[in-house]
Amino acid sequence: MVNYVCLQCHDEEAIPLKVVRDMDMMDDGDPTVPPRFACETCGGEMYPEYYKSLHGIEHRLPGISTT
Ligand SMILES: [Zn+2]
Repeated sequence: MVNYVCLQCHDEEAIPLKVVRDMDMMDDGDPTVPPRFACETCGGEMYPEYYKSLHGIEHRLPGISTT
């Protein structure tokens, strides 16, 4: 599962990795931008807390420091 966090209301939602990968595969846009979902609570943008894309790029939620 990939933990997604809403950038607006900070709601969290776990998305199955397979679903995120499918989204990634269908998206021919910018590979530096991870697949994103719309928040069901506020309609804001949900960003993965951590996700390594099919292109090998690691995405981390902005502002989260993993020390
Ligand atoms: Zn939200």
